[in-house]
This record gives sequence, C-alpha cells and structure tokens, in this order.
Amino acid sequence: MEATEQSLRREIIATCLRMNHEGINHGTSGNVSVRWRDGMLISPSGIPYEELQEADIVFVASDGRHDAGERPSSEWRFHLAILHARPEVGAVVHTHSVHATALAMRGMEIPAAHYMIAAAGGANIRCAPYATFGTRELSDLALRALDGRHACLLANHGVIAIGPNLRKALWLAGEVEVLARQYILSLMLGGPNLLSDTEVARVVERFKDYGLR
Ligand code: 13P
Ligand code: ZN
Repeated sequence: MEATEQSLRREIIATCLRMNHEGINHGTSGNVSVRWRDGMLISPSGIPYEELQEADIVFVASDGRHDAGERPSSEWRFHLAILHARPEVGAVVHTHSVHATALAMRGMEIPAAHYMIAAAGGANIRCAPYATFGTRELSDLALRALDGRHACLLANHGVIAIGPNLRKALWLAGEVEVLARQYILSLMLGGPNLLSDTEVARVVERFKDYGLR
C-alpha cells in the first residue's frame, strides 16, 4: 500500500471518529469518502468507528466495483456520483446531525438567515426530497440539491457536506449543524430576518479567501 493511500485511510478513520466526538453524528450512521485514483476510498458499512482499521476502508473504482468480501458504505452511490460530477470536490462527509436532520424531517431547507450560509456556496442549503438510503434515486436527488452548493440536507435522513479535502468537508458539516440550530431557535422567536441575495453573493465572494485554512 502506498504511503498516500495509507494516510488517506487513516484520515477517513480520524474523520469518522471526529464527527461522532464533535456531536454531529451518532453510532455507525454517516459515512466519509475521499477521492483516490479513478475512484474513491470510503468508510465501510456498519462497523463502529472505534473499531475501524485502515484495512477496513474500501476502495471503490469509478464503475462502482470493489473487492469481493469488502463492504463499502451503503451510500457509496452518492459519494461516487458526487466525486464524478464535481471534479473540484476531493471529499464527501455524510452525517445525521440532529438539528439539520430535524429540519430535513419537515423537508425544510436552511435559508439565508445568517451570513455563514455562504460557506455552503449560496443563499440556501436545499433539502433533497426523500428516497430510500443507498439507492440510485437518493444519489440523483442529492446531486440535484447540491447544484452550485457545497452542502445539502436529505429529507427524513441527514446532511451531505463536500469540500476539496476531508478537513474542509467535516468543517462544513459542523457549520451546517450550527446554522440549523440557529435557524430553529430563530423560528421559535418568530422567524429570522433574511439576508438579500446581493448580500449573500457579496459574502460568497469574500469567502473565497476567508474561512478555515
Ligand atoms: P453505512 O454504515 O452503510 O455507511 O450507512 C450509514 C448511513 O448513514 C446510511 O445513510
Ligand atoms: Zn445516512
């Protein structure tokens, strides 16, 4: 195994552990992938993150194939579809973070109620309609909801955050959860004042050289 592949496998495990320790995911929910060669390295299905070994991380080729006996995350389809459709993306993080998922249970998007929405690339974080986990249908709906964005919600399910690398994708997944919490609280106070599209566009521009380094 090349050193780079090994370090990416380690980074996937660290990211899985971090998303649970940071409280933005629970149990074996969620999954993490990173672009590798003509495909991706992805967390396996259903193994508790504390037990993950480098060898458990699965390589899935661009045609969806993987070694017999290995079990990639059940969501490998949307991970692979995103990496294929979005060449600028290097990593995908999927969580079931509680507040973002609460909005997604009502099919609600996150609007421009805080300027940090710009971290996700535009004036809203869309919610993809519901489809069964692991399906091609969910993958298609997620891709559409991510159009021009770095994050989306999945109805009655969770969150997808993408980025040039795992560190940035995980950071964004955390920001989406904070935005969801803030938005829910402001709804309880009568609803937020929304920022204009012009203002969001200005912040998106400023975010090109601002934010997590
Ligand atoms: P996996 O354990 O198969 O990655 O599934 C977790 C999940 O979040 C499915 O949507
Ligand atoms: Zn999920």
